[in-house]
Amino acid sequence: MPKDFLKGAADHYDVVVIGSGLAGLTSANLLARQGYSVLLLEHHYQLGGMATWFKRKGGHIFDISLHGFPVGMKKSCRKYWTDEIAESIVQLKGIRFENPQFSLTTTFDRADFTKLLIEKFDVPPETVQAFFDTARGMNFFDEQSRTTRELFEQFFPGRSDVVRLLMEPITYANGSTLEDPAITYGIVFSNFMHKGVFTFQGGTDALVNKMRAELERNGVDIRIRTLVEKIEVSPDRCVTGVVVNGRRITCDAVMSNANLKSTILRLVGPEHFDRSFVEEAEAVRLNNSSCQVYIALKPREGFDHSCGDLLFHSEHQGFDVQAMLSRNVSSRTFSFYYPETRPGSDRWLIVSSTNAEYADWAGLSDEDYEAAKRDLCESTLTCLERYVPDVRAKLDHIEASTPRTFQHYTQHDMGASFGTKFEGLKVSETLPEQIRGLYHAGSVGIIMSGWLGAVNYGVIVANKVDQQLAARPEVRGQRLEPSGAAARE
Ligand SMILES: Cc1cc2nc3c(=O)[nH]c(=O)nc-3n(C[C@H](O)[C@H](O)[C@H](O)COP(=O)(O)OP(=O)(O)OC[C@H]3O[C@@H](n4cnc5c(N)ncnc54)[C@H](O)[C@@H]3O)c2cc1C
Repeated sequence: MPKDFLKGAADHYDVVVIGSGLAGLTSANLLARQGYSVLLLEHHYQLGGMATWFKRKGGHIFDISLHGFPVGMKKSCRKYWTDEIAESIVQLKGIRFENPQFSLTTTFDRADFTKLLIEKFDVPPETVQAFFDTARGMNFFDEQSRTTRELFEQFFPGRSDVVRLLMEPITYANGSTLEDPAITYGIVFSNFMHKGVFTFQGGTDALVNKMRAELERNGVDIRIRTLVEKIEVSPDRCVTGVVVNGRRITCDAVMSNANLKSTILRLVGPEHFDRSFVEEAEAVRLNNSSCQVYIALKPREGFDHSCGDLLFHSEHQGFDVQAMLSRNVSSRTFSFYYPETRPGSDRWLIVSSTNAEYADWAGLSDEDYEAAKRDLCESTLTCLERYVPDVRAKLDHIEASTPRTFQHYTQHDMGASFGTKFEGLKVSETLPEQIRGLYHAGSVGIIMSGWLGAVNYGVIVANKVDQQLAARPEVRGQRLEPSGAAARE
């Protein structure tokens, strides 16, 4: 008999959360804190979605998406998770760029970038200040037509080196391009420039395990290895429940952290929406995917601290998104993980990330696929030898992941690493107007992607779910006398 991962689950919950990415986890936590009964369903054997890790022989633990996020994550974790989680968020100070146009190390904040732009790139101080102020002051409602390319042309015409400095890390962080709305750039860039780049000390496993403990304290019913096959909707367009691992569970609201398009077009089905909404959903563009190479050194072998924490390496002449996506890799971001990443560990690890197109990997035969992964590992080592000269002699473990890997583990179509392009945000936000009780939170619209974006969107949507659930007549009475978890808020 296969194991029943839903054993003991109730037949009805106030809310079912589909997916345990950072948005799903955060929504589930807040709703449970409000005193609602919450069922969290995750198809993978591990919580976290893209915020994940894996272990290999020799005590190596590789983080997938722990390369850096803005300081805002600290405030969000303190408010919506725990002080303990917030306290483990620490700054990464060595952000390095190596490319044919420039070579520099920065703390990646406004003060240091101002200094660099003025002293190294000879940009007039008033232009630098005006650019930062414009990026910071962008208004969500007024700024949707200007592109990032236009923003750069206004301030730095003909300066591909400056554009590269300002844009390359953001393209790595969320897949955005010069053709995306400038507002997406302005928000994400300004978030980073506020205080620099931060990480979670202890690793993704420590973070997700602490989140899991908090969810359990707040009473969330967590079920792994549970694939939601269907979201059920009544003829008058209200959510009634989900079908998961073949079992029907009813609920008053569903918060889907699954991919936006799959939620609408697969889990619910287009027949339940207005035709115009389906067309909008179909037109939403997914963001690109990624390849990574995971490299572990033998015990007691390390690398020099001058490698930095994050190294944006490129051999391409200028900033070029297509070149960054190409299987013929010319740009890589290396994350160097020192033993301090996981206090108590003596492991030195490197993760190389490149943006990638699903189509370049999807059609390969098994044999070609394995060969392409071997090539990727090999070319990554060759590139890395510039920074860690004896890396081959020190090597203990190496392996690669591709867009196919990301699709497999997170169910995102085409292994999309960073959700959807900008238009996805409106579709996600207006979902409950189509079907009462159906919500989506997760990487969408570029600004809601990444660790911080996903957590914050999880909060926003949990509040909307709360408003709907609180309006139920039977709950109104109970909530006059909050107790237990609900009272903590
Ligand atoms: C290689 C890489 C590097 C990255 N680096 C960074 C970084 O350095 N900093 C940063 O801030 N961000 C980074 N990101 C992005 C960041 O990790 C994501 O934006 C964020 O974690 C996404 O969270 P999410 O809530 O959107 O959900 P996701 O992480 O997409 O999780 C969705 C979850 O839903 C589950 N699910 C889907 N369908 C179903 C179903 N039908 N039934 C049950 N479960 C289902 C999936 O298994 C998954 O667990 C990176 C991403 C990648 C891929």
